[in-house]
Amino acid sequence: MLIDLKYHSQEEPVTDPFFAEYGLSFHIKRDDLIHPFISGNKWRKLKYLLQNASSLQKTSLVTFGGPYSNHLLATACAAAKFGFTSTGFVRGEAVENPTLLICRMFGMQLRFIERERYRDKKHLFDHYFGHQKEAFFIDEGGASEEAVTGCSEIIQELEQHYDYIFCAAGTGTTAAGLLKGIAQQNLSSALHVVPVLKNGEFIRQEIEKFFRAPPEFTLHSSYHFGGYAKTSTELLEFLATFSAKTGILLDPVYTGKMAYAIYDLTRKNFFRPGSKILMLHTGGLLGLLGMQERLGKVLY
Ligand SMILES: *Cc1c(COP(=O)(O)O)cnc(C)c1O
Repeated sequence: MLIDLKYHSQEEPVTDPFFAEYGLSFHIKRDDLIHPFISGNKWRKLKYLLQNASSLQKTSLVTFGGPYSNHLLATACAAAKFGFTSTGFVRGEAVENPTLLICRMFGMQLRFIERERYRDKKHLFDHYFGHQKEAFFIDEGGASEEAVTGCSEIIQELEQHYDYIFCAAGTGTTAAGLLKGIAQQNLSSALHVVPVLKNGEFIRQEIEKFFRAPPEFTLHSSYHFGGYAKTSTELLEFLATFSAKTGILLDPVYTGKMAYAIYDLTRKNFFRPGSKILMLHTGGLLGLLGMQERLGKVLY
C-alpha cells in the first residue's frame, strides 16, 4: 500500500487586533486541518513510521497511549486508511470516552494495562506480539527519529519568514523536528517551546537527545496550568474567547496553553515590536470533548 505523503498545511494570519497594538503580526500554521483524526503533528510523526512498516511488510500496528491520546486516535485512523490492523495499549483501568470510541470505530483493538505494567512498552510488545512477524512497534506518541524527520518538514513548507516559531511540547519530538528543519533551512527563526507538563524543564534533555550539539531554543515552562491535561477556568475562558474572536478552535491540553503563553508574553512586552510570530497548531481538538463539563460551566 502506498502511504500518501501529500498531506500538508497552510499558514494564516490571525485577525485579532490585539497583536497590532504591540506592533506584532501573528500567524498560525494549520496542521490541525491536515486531517480530522490523523491530526496535526501526529500525522507528521507517523508518516515515515508507516512507510517503514509498509516496506518491512508489516501489517499490524501496535502502539501506546493514555485514554485521551491523540496519537492512539491518529494511529487507529491511519491504520484503517492505509490497510493495517491496529492495537492500542491504553494506560490505566478500562474506561470509555469519545477518543477511545472513535479508535474502536477505526477497528483498533484496545488493551487496558495498569500503570505499573504500562511503563515498559518494549516488554509489553514482546510479551503480546513478539511471536507475530507482521506486528510493528510504534512508541507512545510516535516518538522516534522518523517522527523528527516528519516534523522537520513543517519548516520546509513555510511560505514566509518568522522571527518566533512556537510549539507546544509533550515529549518534545515535534520541537526537535522543528529545530532540525530550522537548521536545515538555515533560518534565523527562534524556536519557543511551551511544555504542557509540570516541571517541563526535562523537555530540554528530551530535545537534545536528537542532536549532537545542543540546539538553541527557549522553553516557557510556567504555562502548564497544574500539569498534563490539568486546566483552569481562566484557560477555558481564554479558549472560548479566542475561538469566538478568530474562528479557530484550540485544544485545552496543548495548543490552548501555548496560545495563552503567546498572549501573556505579548502583554509582558516579551517580543520585539515589528516581529512576526508563528504558532504551530498541532490539532488535538477532540481534547475539548474530555472537558465538556468544565467548558459548560464557562459557556452557559
Ligand atoms: C501530541 C501532541 C503534542 C505534543 O507533541 P510532542 O511531539 O510529543 O511534543 C502537541 N499538540 C497536540 C495537539 C498533540 O496531540
